[in-house]
Amino acid sequence: MRLIETLKFIVDNNVGKLAKWLRIMGYDTLFFNGSNDSGMVATALNEERVILTRDTQIMRRWVVTSGRLKAILIHSDKPELQMHQVINDLNLDCQFRPFALCLECNQPLLERSKQQVEGRVPPYVFQTQSQYMECPICHRIYWRGTHWQAMTRKLNQFAKYKQNEEEF
Ligand SMILES: [Zn+2]
Repeated sequence: MRLIETLKFIVDNNVGKLAKWLRIMGYDTLFFNGSNDSGMVATALNEERVILTRDTQIMRRWVVTSGRLKAILIHSDKPELQMHQVINDLNLDCQFRPFALCLECNQPLLERSKQQVEGRVPPYVFQTQSQYMECPICHRIYWRGTHWQAMTRKLNQFAKYKQNEEEF
């Protein structure tokens, strides 16, 4: 069996919100924005990614039914419940590598010193934060502000939900 740590995803556009949350947790996740399912399937096969989709057609493809490609059919149309399903079906670690990837580009973030971000973040942020991360692709800078705290709370909620499920 493959280790949890190696799980990578490709998220269909009908469950697009999942991409952000999986990236927040640190899971390498591509967002598929095309209309050609074959393209998504090919990428998933080439890069050994798990497909997350609400499209039953994909589930009927030979590569999926034969087990060559792992795909998960998402049941709910609510992002929150979709996340619960993925976490439980794949036994995801909600605290896998939080905030290690750019939420836009899926790229590993690089640590930046305070000096390196001077003039590139709002002054009040610069005064109050000492740790920063930067995306090497889009150069967006991340810090542990209120947005970060809200996301951390959400990750904890997901983790708690998972524990509750396991008790039954
Ligand atoms: Zn980026």
